[in-house]
Amino acid sequence: PKPATPAVIRKLDENVVNKIAAGEVIQRPASALKEMLENSLDAGSTQISVTVKEGGNKLLQITDNGSGIRKEDLAILCHRHTTSKLSQFEDLETISTLGFRGEALCSISFVSHMAVTTMARGAQYGYRVTYKDSEVEAPGPKPVAAVPGTTITVEDLFYNVPTRRKALKSSSEEYGLILDTLGRYAVYSAPGVGFSCRRHGDGRPDISTTAAGSRLDAVRAVYGADVAREVLPLALAAGGGTGPEVPVEGPLGIKLEGLISGANYGSGKKTVLVLFINGRCVECAPLRRALEGVYAALLPKASKPWLFLDLRLPPRQVEVNMHPTKREVGFMHQAEVIEVIRGAVEAKLLASNDSRTFATGA
Ligand code: ADP
Ligand code: MG
Repeated sequence: PKPATPAVIRKLDENVVNKIAAGEVIQRPASALKEMLENSLDAGSTQISVTVKEGGNKLLQITDNGSGIRKEDLAILCHRHTTSKLSQFEDLETISTLGFRGEALCSISFVSHMAVTTMARGAQYGYRVTYKDSEVEAPGPKPVAAVPGTTITVEDLFYNVPTRRKALKSSSEEYGLILDTLGRYAVYSAPGVGFSCRRHGDGRPDISTTAAGSRLDAVRAVYGADVAREVLPLALAAGGGTGPEVPVEGPLGIKLEGLISGANYGSGKKTVLVLFINGRCVECAPLRRALEGVYAALLPKASKPWLFLDLRLPPRQVEVNMHPTKREVGFMHQAEVIEVIRGAVEAKLLASNDSRTFATGA
């Protein structure tokens, strides 16, 4: 029954607020990994290694060779809204780092057992710290022998949120999502950053790319030789359509580079769209539908395409702060931008239309 008199309004305890917010950013092991990968990339890492136990439910460990974290900052590292990346709201318009909200490590510390080992570049030794509910646990940072970079260990994710724990999929499905997340970054970041991901105790990694390897090497390592063999390079020409393999600025200030499966690629069971907008790994359902439409029209055998797209839009036209997970970005002129991309993909597919592909019976 609803109360007849007004209920009392109270301010929620800060810990409760943090726990609620944590569930928004960290939905499952793969979202924790995404945040930590982005931190490692923001720190300028060239090698990022991930170890996983039980689909990340038991253990998620990520080691990078980035800048490391200053000892002085360890006390507030996991506080809410502490960041080295943003200071003014206006900076969001042109922000180049993946992070800016200062929420991820805080959130993770509220729903797991978390340890950080870090050595700042140029420091004599490193430090190991464990965190609980955003605070350093006693006795505080302990000096350890280390190499420059950072290792973050996340254990027993959602140990204190049984409902969330129950909502997770099987270990192998969660691990699949982890590989999917890591694989996207491995392709985007090549060449320049090497990635590996292995199950704890396995000698062989499931994904392994090197910093020196080309983007095509990364595609082969992550998505397999069948994809790597069949992809066509895509680049947008100044007037739209496809053009030189060096991306130039097209209509609406768009720059587009990519790799897309061609007519001979037939093994895909569902569309894979690895989409980065201004360096952010995002989803865009209307673009996906438009691209599926192009392939469905040109390739009657209805095989699902594989596409990697690196899309650059004028930063001022992109809203990055749409959601705590940053899984989507908003951008201006969406319909027109999608149409330019659709047109470029279509033109590329038609241009590669040689005698053994589309010509038959058309
Ligand atoms: P954000 O990335 O939005 O700043 P996070 O909670 O993800 O917030 O991280 C907080 C801060 O911790 C970052 O701003 C960064 O300075 C530092 N940090 C986190 N991970 C790393 C890392 N792997 N290497 C170096 N610094 C890191
Ligand atoms: Mg971050």
